[in-house]
Amino acid sequence: MTTAVTNPWPAGNAGHAAVAARARQVVKAYGSGETRVVALDRVDVDIARGRFTAIMGPSGSGKSTLMHCLAGLDTVSSGQIFINDTEITGLKDKKLTRLRRDRIGFIFQAFNLLPTLNALENITLPMDIAGRRPDRAWLDRVVETVGLAGRLKHRPSQLSGGQQQRVAVARALAARPEIIFGDEPTGNLDSRAGAEVLGFLRRSVDELGQTIVMVTHDPVAASYADRVLYLADGRIVDEMYSPTADLVLERMLRLAPGGTGTSAADAAGRTPADFDARGRVS
Ligand code: ADP
Repeated sequence: MTTAVTNPWPAGNAGHAAVAARARQVVKAYGSGETRVVALDRVDVDIARGRFTAIMGPSGSGKSTLMHCLAGLDTVSSGQIFINDTEITGLKDKKLTRLRRDRIGFIFQAFNLLPTLNALENITLPMDIAGRRPDRAWLDRVVETVGLAGRLKHRPSQLSGGQQQRVAVARALAARPEIIFGDEPTGNLDSRAGAEVLGFLRRSVDELGQTIVMVTHDPVAASYADRVLYLADGRIVDEMYSPTADLVLERMLRLAPGGTGTSAADAAGRTPADFDARGRVS
């Protein structure tokens, strides 16, 4: 069964105006014949504009593949992906590269900062490459939102991991992309620095109107989102609005292989307290 998940929030203007990205009957298969692996199995999803969406699921469930397909970093086997009203499936390489550069922001687990540039230069680099002038007032606001004022002249080596990831967040926000995709953006940070970065992502949604999609397996990270999508075997099998870390964990346990599908305690009698912040059994 394929679960169709649509956007429950009222449309801002009308119809698609409230949807930043859409997947329609997306299939992604790797290999062929006996070695064929279906990573995404007829996925339908709407990503709401101006909201923070987390994608969760067990390892191998298709989270990264879904994010990569939504972001135009990978091709689909069949189905359609839209960024706003632009269908990106079928776009030629050059157009897709330009669309990614102009309309999409990325934050990865590795901060991917250039060591010889200072924080400000790293933040504006994608715009410099694209030949776009940064909007100074917006840049100031972004820098303030992610708490980097006073550190803009620092090189990455002079910043903590959390501060480096804040630079990467600011870099993604600076170009005002329609949507930002994060792949385990706090995966390399300790819990305090991770909480700070997640707080800034949350602020960028609440105060700057940014749309964010984040892959994570951390229930605490997911609790910063407005909505959590759960993947299993390449399908969206559940979702949750206004999540808390405990509710996310409980749902993960229920959906985990071995969970019986009725309560958190089902999974080998474990409770949320038996799991660490990254969802692993302690
Ligand atoms: P997740 O991010 O949830 O861990 P992935 O999206 O990375 O899951 O993978 C989904 C499935 O697709 C897995 O079975 C994985 O082994 C398979 N897969 C992912 N990338 C490739 C690839 N490049 N070649 C073959 N199989 C792949």
